[in-house]
This record gives sequence, C-alpha cells and structure tokens, in this order.
Amino acid sequence: SAHAVSVVSLLEKASGRWPDSPSVTDEGQTFTWEQTEKRCQCLAWALASLGVGVGHRVAYLGFNSHWCFELFFASPMAGAITVPVNFRLSVDEMVDCIQDAEPTVLLADRDHIEQARAISRECPWLKAVVYAGEGNAPNGFLSYEDLLTSSEKTDLQPSGNDDTLILFYTGGTTGRSKGVMLTHINLFTNALGGLSLYETVERETHLLAGPMFHTAAGSRVYTATMMGTHTVILSKFDVLEMMGLVEQYRINTMQLVPTTLQLMVDHPQFAEFDLSSLRMITYGAAPMPVALLERALKRLPGVSFAQSYGMTEASPVVTVLNGDDHSLEATRLPRLESVGRPVFHNHVRIVNAERQTLGVGEVGEIAVKGANIMKGYWRAPELTAAVLQDGWYYTGDSGYLDEDGYLFLVGRIKDMIVSGGENVYPIEIENVLSRHPDVRECAVIGVPHEKWGESVHAVVRLTDDVVVSEDDIISYCRERIAHYKCPTGVTFMEQPLPVSAVNKILKSELRTMISGDAE
Ligand code: ATP
Ligand code: MG
Repeated sequence: SAHAVSVVSLLEKASGRWPDSPSVTDEGQTFTWEQTEKRCQCLAWALASLGVGVGHRVAYLGFNSHWCFELFFASPMAGAITVPVNFRLSVDEMVDCIQDAEPTVLLADRDHIEQARAISRECPWLKAVVYAGEGNAPNGFLSYEDLLTSSEKTDLQPSGNDDTLILFYTGGTTGRSKGVMLTHINLFTNALGGLSLYETVERETHLLAGPMFHTAAGSRVYTATMMGTHTVILSKFDVLEMMGLVEQYRINTMQLVPTTLQLMVDHPQFAEFDLSSLRMITYGAAPMPVALLERALKRLPGVSFAQSYGMTEASPVVTVLNGDDHSLEATRLPRLESVGRPVFHNHVRIVNAERQTLGVGEVGEIAVKGANIMKGYWRAPELTAAVLQDGWYYTGDSGYLDEDGYLFLVGRIKDMIVSGGENVYPIEIENVLSRHPDVRECAVIGVPHEKWGESVHAVVRLTDDVVVSEDDIISYCRERIAHYKCPTGVTFMEQPLPVSAVNKILKSELRTMISGDAE
C-alpha cells in the first residue's frame, strides 16, 4: 500500500511474517495469515466488480465470523468503508441504519437472510446482497465463496491515513446511536495503544467474545493483525460456549464487559472448565462493580486483569488500569475504582461547563485528545461540531483525575442525579449496593421529585430465594454513605435489568419504567 498508515499493509506484513500461523478460527475452521490475506484480496476485487468504488460503503449484517473479519480488510483494499450493522436491532432499526450509511453492497450471514431481504426491499440502490456463509446462496443473494473463486484482478485504490476506514455505530445507551467515522490512523493508533493494555506478546490466542459491530471487539481485529494474534471467534455471546472455546483453544486473552464477566464467574459450571491458559482478561465499556471484580480476581487467581475506559469516538481506548493495579490486596484501595491512566497517545483533561480546565480532584466533563479521536459523526456535522473542538473530544462523561493522573469516572453527565441541589453520582451508590450479599444486579437512577428536583432511586435484582425489604436496602446504604446520597425508594426486579445491544444497563428505560410507575 502507498499510504504511510494503512491497515492493509498490516495484513500484508502479517501474511509475510507469519504465513502459516493461524489468523482466524471460526466454527472449527482455521485460516492462516496467508490464506486470510488472499481471501481479503479476492473479496476486494469482487467488491470492485460489483461497483464498489472509493468512499463507498459495504455493510455486514451478521454474527461475528471470519467473513466479517475479512471484510474489515477487503473494504479498505477497495477504497471503501466497512459498516458493521448491529444484529440486535429490529428490522426497522436495521433499515434506518442502512439508509443512514447507504452502502453499495450488503453482506449477510445465514442467520440474517430474512432481515437482509427486508432491507433490500427498502433500499433499492443496493447493487448486490451477498450471502456470507457456507453452501448455496439463497434466492436473490450472490455467494461470497463463489465471488472469491471467480474474482479477477483489477486495479484498486486502497484507502489509508485519514481516509475513513470504518463506520462504527455508538452503543445507543443515551439515545439514537450515531455513525462514527474512524480512520486508518485512528484504528492504527488504538492498536498501538492496545499493546500496552494487553501487555501483548506476538502470536497469542485471543477469544473474540464481544460483537464485532461494536468498536471494543471490532478494533481488536487490527490489534490482532499487528501482533499476529490468532483470533478465535465466538459468533455470538454464549457463556458455556465461551468457556468451552477457552478450554479447547487454550485461549490467552479475551475481552469482556461487566455483565458477561459476571455470567462467567457466577456460572454453576464454571469450575468444570479448564481455563488455565488464560493470561489476561480485559474489561470495560460499562461501570464495573468492585464486588464483582473481587469475585473474579478470587476465582481466576492466575489471570491478570486490565480495565479500559473509552468510547466509539476514541477508537475506543482512552485509559487503562493495568494488571499491577489489580492485586487482590489492593481491592480495598480506591485505585481499583479508577479506570486507570491515559494510554500513551491520549491526553485527558477535566473541564467545567465553559470547557475550562479544572484541577486535581475536581469533577467535570472528561475531554480527550489524540490520534485515536474520530474524524466526526457520519453525515451529522452539527453533532460533530458540538463535541469536537480544537482537537479535543468532549465525552459527555464526568470524572476527576487524582494527583497520580488516575482517572476516576463518576458517570455520564446525563445520568447524574441532582437532588436538593447536591450532585449525586449513581456509581457511588451502585458500588455500595453491589457489595450487599443478596444483590445480584443493581442500578441507581434519579426520579422526578417535587421538592428536591430529583430523588435517588435504586433498582435491584436479588439473588434467588432471599427476602430483603426496601428498608433493608435503604438502611444498608445509610450505614455506608451520606444520607443525601441514599436511595429513598427501591424497585425490586424479578427479571434481569434491561440492557442495550452491547449489554449495558439502559438507565433511560429504567427511568421511564419507574417514573411511569410512580404516576
Ligand atoms: P451512545 O453514545 O449511543 O449513547 P454509548 O456511549 O454507550 O452509547 P459507546 O461508545 O459504546 O456508546 O460507549 C462509550 C461509553 O461507555 C463511555 O462514554 C462511558 O460512559 C462508558 N464506558 C466505557 N468504558 C467504561 C468503563 N471502563 N467504565 C465505565 N463506563 C465506561
Ligand atoms: Mg456515547
């Protein structure tokens, strides 16, 4: 590739250096780096023959797969932009997403054929719908595998540097998700930062457990290619299958979110799996209850843990709390409640509402600068202008820095509760509640209150067969934190708390539910 920075050249290097080493394993099938590179190259030619040109989009709708992994390189080889579509969306939402991205070609796996048909009816400009799967393509679809074998070499104009490489859509936790334009430089920079996060060793085996349509897992594809990592793909999250793959492929590293980590360490069959190959688990994307982390550290004594904090707009990693800060002796120290320090390429500062820098210990909005910060939101210049200024990205998260440069997250600005003029940060109460032996899951939200503006409300899901009252929960908090921060009401849930497509608790839904109840 002619560009100084390009993920295409990462792939060429990987194929040159480790031609026969495994690149990807998907449902028992393993490819080598050389095979992956060839397949990507053939796909790029095939896309060009279907009319995909420079700056065009190519969308992928499906579970994690080697086809998706390949598209992540074939698109830039053809100068195009990959759009991984959130497979948990409803068909209408998928259509919205496709209409927003306007891809030239759509790829769909065997589990999303009906959705792809519905999309192609609504999106007549699509030049082709490609079946990314084994066996014959269904009616109306071209076969990916046939396209590879019949593709012919053509001249391509690969993208690189500041060209948009991929559109990742944000988690949709606070509203409609936005398309984020990430460039080669953005994802290359993040991959470099990842080396320290994962304390990466060449050619380890990584389990890709999160959905590739989300930056956290999607960006791993490029980190893996930088280091010759063997990526074992979990098509969609299933805790037993995940533990089975760790055992079968002797997985060294994987990346989880708090909810999936909890499903693993609290699983009744946890002890039946040989997880001894695990070297490191990284986690992030949502607040980690300290009690859960302590449990995980105890149950996985040989594993080091690293937390990362970031967001789609930052490709995604901003800070890392590394292994040294995770010793069990340290769990009583406040450091474990921190999200760590900025990765080498990130600058972090805390600002007030006027975007002026605040001092150590002062709570304000977290702003981030670095080569990993997005080019902007897709087709939304006003939204971009509101959050990007002078190279700084204003995250909408609030937090503070301590004197050692550790960042403490206090929550999303939108989730902050203002009760009787006092700011209350839900995470503080959630950390207390999560230590209650009978609490399985919890979330703290603000509900409208006539006198105080908002009052603190806890939503709690208990472990099975326990009896705990609202008063028990409230007094448990009152013994541990200032009264004005304590919940004044508790809602007990029988069901798991509502989560987004990437398993983050949807506080907006809880607020509607609780405020609706109260009326
Ligand atoms: P949307 O922007 O559409 O509302 P989202 O912000 O959840 O959704 P993402 O980009 O997937 O979309 O998530 C980034 C956000 O996740 C961060 O801004 C932060 O609020 C939260 N987050 C990320 N890492 C952590 C972490 N380690 N601990 C706590 N929260 C985290
Ligand atoms: Mg966000």
